[in-house]
Amino acid sequence: MRTPLIAANFKMNKTVSEAIEYFNEFKKLTTDVKNVEIVVATPNILLYPLVDIVKGTNINLSAENIHWKDNGAFTGETSAVTLKDMGINYTVLGHSERREMFCETNETVNKRLLNALKNGVKVIFCIGETLSERENNKTIEKVTAQITEGFKSITPDMMKDIAIAYEPIWAIGTGKTATSQQAQEIHSEIRNILKDMFNESVANSTRILYGGSVKPANVKELMSMEDIDGALVGGASLKPESFIQIVKF
Ligand code: PEP
Repeated sequence: MRTPLIAANFKMNKTVSEAIEYFNEFKKLTTDVKNVEIVVATPNILLYPLVDIVKGTNINLSAENIHWKDNGAFTGETSAVTLKDMGINYTVLGHSERREMFCETNETVNKRLLNALKNGVKVIFCIGETLSERENNKTIEKVTAQITEGFKSITPDMMKDIAIAYEPIWAIGTGKTATSQQAQEIHSEIRNILKDMFNESVANSTRILYGGSVKPANVKELMSMEDIDGALVGGASLKPESFIQIVKF
Protein backbone atom coordinates (compact mmCIF):
# COMPACT_ATOMS: atom_id res chain seq x y z
CA MET A 1 0.00 0.00 0.00
CA ARG A 2 1.33 3.41 -0.94
CA THR A 3 0.25 6.17 1.49
CA PRO A 4 -1.00 9.15 -0.53
CA LEU A 5 1.29 12.16 -0.38
CA ILE A 6 -0.19 15.60 -1.01
CA ALA A 7 2.42 18.33 -1.25
CA ALA A 8 2.17 22.09 -1.61
CA ASN A 9 4.76 24.14 -3.42
CA PHE A 10 4.52 27.80 -2.43
CA LYS A 11 7.30 28.88 -4.84
CA MET A 12 8.40 32.51 -4.29
CA ASN A 13 5.15 33.53 -2.64
CA LYS A 14 4.22 34.81 0.82
CA THR A 15 5.91 37.04 3.36
CA VAL A 16 6.81 35.72 6.82
CA SER A 17 3.60 37.10 8.36
CA GLU A 18 1.48 35.69 5.53
CA ALA A 19 3.11 32.27 5.92
CA ILE A 20 2.57 32.29 9.70
CA GLU A 21 -1.07 33.23 9.21
CA TYR A 22 -1.47 30.45 6.62
CA PHE A 23 0.02 27.76 8.84
CA ASN A 24 -1.96 28.83 11.92
CA GLU A 25 -5.11 28.47 9.84
CA PHE A 26 -4.10 25.37 7.87
CA LYS A 27 -3.02 23.33 10.89
CA LYS A 28 -6.52 23.65 12.39
CA LEU A 29 -7.96 22.17 9.20
CA THR A 30 -5.65 19.13 9.22
CA THR A 31 -6.38 17.72 12.68
CA ASP A 32 -8.75 15.05 11.34
CA VAL A 33 -6.61 14.09 8.31
CA LYS A 34 -5.63 10.44 8.44
CA ASN A 35 -3.78 8.17 6.04
CA VAL A 36 -2.50 11.05 3.90
CA GLU A 37 0.98 12.48 4.28
CA ILE A 38 0.98 16.28 4.04
CA VAL A 39 4.07 18.20 2.93
CA VAL A 40 4.34 21.96 2.42
CA ALA A 41 7.38 23.31 0.57
CA THR A 42 8.07 26.99 1.15
CA PRO A 43 10.93 29.30 0.20
CA ASN A 44 13.83 28.34 2.45
CA ILE A 45 13.84 31.75 4.16
CA LEU A 46 10.31 31.12 5.49
CA LEU A 47 10.98 27.72 7.02
CA TYR A 48 12.54 28.64 10.35
CA PRO A 49 9.63 30.68 11.74
CA LEU A 50 7.25 27.87 10.74
CA VAL A 51 9.01 25.02 12.55
CA ASP A 52 7.40 25.73 15.94
CA ILE A 53 3.96 26.25 14.41
CA VAL A 54 3.86 22.78 12.83
CA LYS A 55 5.26 20.95 15.88
CA GLY A 56 2.84 18.25 16.98
CA THR A 57 0.77 18.53 13.77
CA ASN A 58 0.72 16.17 10.79
CA ILE A 59 2.23 18.81 8.48
CA ASN A 60 5.76 18.21 7.19
CA LEU A 61 7.73 21.26 6.11
CA SER A 62 9.91 21.03 3.03
CA ALA A 63 12.57 23.11 1.32
CA GLU A 64 12.16 23.89 -2.38
CA ASN A 65 15.80 23.05 -3.12
CA ILE A 66 19.09 22.24 -1.37
CA HIS A 67 22.72 22.25 -2.48
CA TRP A 68 24.92 19.20 -3.18
CA LYS A 69 27.54 20.08 -0.56
CA ASP A 70 27.11 20.19 3.20
CA ASN A 71 28.82 23.58 3.49
CA GLY A 72 31.29 25.87 1.76
CA ALA A 73 31.60 28.82 -0.59
CA PHE A 74 28.21 28.55 -2.32
CA THR A 75 26.66 31.99 -1.99
CA GLY A 76 22.88 31.92 -1.88
CA GLU A 77 22.55 28.15 -1.52
CA THR A 78 21.01 26.13 1.34
CA SER A 79 22.56 23.10 3.04
CA ALA A 80 20.69 19.91 3.85
CA VAL A 81 22.64 19.90 7.12
CA THR A 82 21.04 23.22 8.12
CA LEU A 83 17.64 21.91 7.09
CA LYS A 84 18.03 18.84 9.31
CA ASP A 85 19.29 21.06 12.11
CA MET A 86 15.92 22.86 11.95
CA GLY A 87 14.11 19.51 12.11
CA ILE A 88 13.00 19.61 8.48
CA ASN A 89 12.98 16.28 6.68
CA TYR A 90 11.89 17.06 3.13
CA THR A 91 13.04 18.94 0.06
CA VAL A 92 11.72 19.30 -3.47
CA LEU A 93 14.42 18.81 -6.12
CA GLY A 94 14.58 19.24 -9.87
CA HIS A 95 11.46 21.37 -10.22
CA SER A 96 11.05 22.37 -13.87
CA GLU A 97 11.39 26.04 -12.88
CA ARG A 98 14.82 25.24 -11.42
CA ARG A 99 15.75 23.24 -14.50
CA GLU A 100 14.47 25.80 -17.03
CA MET A 101 15.34 29.11 -15.35
CA PHE A 102 18.30 28.24 -13.17
CA CYS A 103 20.22 25.88 -15.46
CA GLU A 104 19.80 22.75 -13.35
CA THR A 105 20.61 19.56 -15.18
CA ASN A 106 20.05 15.87 -14.49
CA GLU A 107 23.64 15.82 -13.24
CA THR A 108 23.28 18.68 -10.74
CA VAL A 109 19.89 17.44 -9.57
CA ASN A 110 21.46 14.00 -9.02
CA LYS A 111 24.21 15.56 -6.90
CA ARG A 112 21.62 17.41 -4.81
CA LEU A 113 19.61 14.20 -4.45
CA LEU A 114 22.59 12.21 -3.18
CA ASN A 115 23.42 14.91 -0.65
CA ALA A 116 19.83 15.18 0.59
CA LEU A 117 19.58 11.42 1.19
CA LYS A 118 23.02 11.31 2.81
CA ASN A 119 21.74 13.84 5.33
CA GLY A 120 18.44 12.06 5.96
CA VAL A 121 16.32 14.51 3.97
CA LYS A 122 13.54 12.89 1.92
CA VAL A 123 13.03 14.14 -1.61
CA ILE A 124 10.15 14.98 -3.91
CA PHE A 125 11.94 14.56 -7.23
CA CYS A 126 10.33 16.42 -10.14
CA ILE A 127 10.36 15.32 -13.76
CA GLY A 128 8.28 16.13 -16.83
CA GLU A 129 8.23 17.12 -20.47
CA THR A 130 7.67 20.39 -22.32
CA LEU A 131 4.74 20.84 -24.69
CA SER A 132 6.94 20.44 -27.75
CA GLU A 133 8.46 17.24 -26.35
CA ARG A 134 4.95 15.86 -25.81
CA GLU A 135 3.86 16.87 -29.31
CA ASN A 136 6.93 15.18 -30.76
CA ASN A 137 6.33 11.95 -28.81
CA LYS A 138 9.41 12.50 -26.69
CA THR A 139 7.73 12.28 -23.26
CA ILE A 140 8.95 8.80 -22.36
CA GLU A 141 12.45 9.53 -23.66
CA LYS A 142 12.57 12.70 -21.53
CA VAL A 143 11.35 11.13 -18.28
CA THR A 144 13.54 8.06 -18.82
CA ALA A 145 16.64 10.29 -19.06
CA GLN A 146 15.55 12.35 -16.06
CA ILE A 147 15.17 9.18 -13.99
CA THR A 148 18.19 7.20 -15.17
CA GLU A 149 20.58 10.17 -15.02
CA GLY A 150 18.90 11.78 -12.01
CA PHE A 151 18.99 8.54 -10.00
CA LYS A 152 22.61 7.67 -10.81
CA SER A 153 24.23 5.94 -7.77
CA ILE A 154 20.86 5.59 -6.05
CA THR A 155 20.37 2.11 -4.58
CA PRO A 156 17.00 0.32 -4.29
CA ASP A 157 17.09 0.89 -0.53
CA MET A 158 17.47 4.67 -0.97
CA MET A 159 14.31 4.79 -3.06
CA LYS A 160 12.11 4.59 0.05
CA ASP A 161 13.04 8.23 0.73
CA ILE A 162 12.19 9.47 -2.75
CA ALA A 163 8.78 10.33 -4.19
CA ILE A 164 8.65 11.20 -7.87
CA ALA A 165 6.49 14.12 -9.02
CA TYR A 166 5.52 13.83 -12.68
CA GLU A 167 4.77 17.37 -13.77
CA PRO A 168 4.18 18.00 -17.47
CA ILE A 169 5.63 21.49 -17.87
CA TRP A 170 2.77 22.55 -20.15
CA ALA A 171 0.36 21.94 -17.26
CA ILE A 172 2.22 23.88 -14.56
CA GLY A 173 0.51 27.13 -13.63
CA THR A 174 -1.34 27.18 -16.95
CA GLY A 175 -4.73 25.91 -15.81
CA LYS A 176 -4.27 23.05 -18.32
CA THR A 177 -4.29 19.75 -16.45
CA ALA A 178 -3.23 16.52 -18.08
CA THR A 179 -6.31 14.32 -18.23
CA SER A 180 -6.32 11.62 -15.60
CA GLN A 181 -5.74 9.08 -18.41
CA GLN A 182 -2.76 11.03 -19.79
CA ALA A 183 -1.24 11.22 -16.31
CA GLN A 184 -1.97 7.55 -15.53
CA GLU A 185 -0.30 6.48 -18.79
CA ILE A 186 2.96 8.24 -17.90
CA HIS A 187 2.85 7.17 -14.24
CA SER A 188 2.55 3.57 -15.35
CA GLU A 189 5.51 4.05 -17.72
CA ILE A 190 7.51 5.56 -14.84
CA ARG A 191 6.86 2.40 -12.82
CA ASN A 192 8.20 0.36 -15.76
CA ILE A 193 11.33 2.52 -15.84
CA LEU A 194 11.80 1.96 -12.08
CA LYS A 195 11.33 -1.78 -12.55
CA ASP A 196 14.04 -1.86 -15.24
CA MET A 197 16.40 0.34 -13.27
CA PHE A 198 15.83 -1.20 -9.80
CA ASN A 199 13.32 -4.00 -9.31
CA GLU A 200 9.61 -4.76 -9.08
CA SER A 201 9.41 -3.99 -5.38
CA VAL A 202 10.84 -0.47 -5.89
CA ALA A 203 8.48 0.05 -8.84
CA ASN A 204 5.48 -0.95 -6.73
CA SER A 205 6.40 0.94 -3.59
CA THR A 206 7.63 4.29 -4.96
CA ARG A 207 5.05 7.03 -4.71
CA ILE A 208 4.46 8.91 -7.96
CA LEU A 209 2.69 12.25 -7.57
CA TYR A 210 1.07 14.21 -10.36
CA GLY A 211 1.61 17.98 -10.59
CA GLY A 212 0.21 20.54 -13.00
CA SER A 213 -2.85 22.69 -12.21
CA VAL A 214 -4.20 20.30 -9.60
CA LYS A 215 -7.18 21.90 -7.85
CA PRO A 216 -10.10 20.86 -5.65
CA ALA A 217 -12.23 20.24 -8.73
CA ASN A 218 -9.92 17.71 -10.41
CA VAL A 219 -8.00 16.03 -7.56
CA LYS A 220 -10.49 13.26 -6.89
CA GLU A 221 -10.49 12.08 -10.49
CA LEU A 222 -6.67 12.17 -10.67
CA MET A 223 -6.33 10.31 -7.36
CA SER A 224 -8.69 7.59 -8.54
CA MET A 225 -6.04 6.43 -11.04
CA GLU A 226 -4.14 3.28 -10.14
CA ASP A 227 -0.65 4.74 -10.39
CA ILE A 228 -1.28 8.26 -9.09
CA ASP A 229 -0.28 8.34 -5.43
CA GLY A 230 -0.52 12.03 -4.65
CA ALA A 231 -0.18 15.55 -5.96
CA LEU A 232 2.30 18.40 -6.01
CA VAL A 233 0.24 21.57 -5.95
CA GLY A 234 1.37 25.11 -6.74
CA GLY A 235 -1.30 27.79 -7.21
CA ALA A 236 -4.14 25.93 -5.50
CA SER A 237 -2.04 25.39 -2.36
CA LEU A 238 -1.70 29.09 -1.58
CA LYS A 239 -5.00 29.34 0.28
CA PRO A 240 -5.55 26.97 3.22
CA GLU A 241 -9.22 26.42 2.37
CA SER A 242 -8.31 25.37 -1.17
CA PHE A 243 -5.33 23.18 -0.23
CA ILE A 244 -7.24 21.36 2.51
CA GLN A 245 -9.86 20.28 -0.03
CA ILE A 246 -7.07 18.75 -2.09
CA VAL A 247 -5.57 17.06 0.99
CA LYS A 248 -9.02 15.61 1.75
CA PHE A 249 -9.62 14.47 -1.83
C1 PEP B 1 4.13 23.19 -9.28
O1 PEP B 1 4.59 24.27 -8.97
O2 PEP B 1 4.80 22.19 -9.08
C2 PEP B 1 2.79 23.14 -9.86
C3 PEP B 1 2.33 22.00 -10.25
O3 PEP B 1 2.11 24.34 -9.98
P1 PEP B 1 0.55 24.53 -10.35
O4 PEP B 1 -0.22 23.60 -9.42
O5 PEP B 1 0.27 25.96 -10.09
O6 PEP B 1 0.37 24.12 -11.77
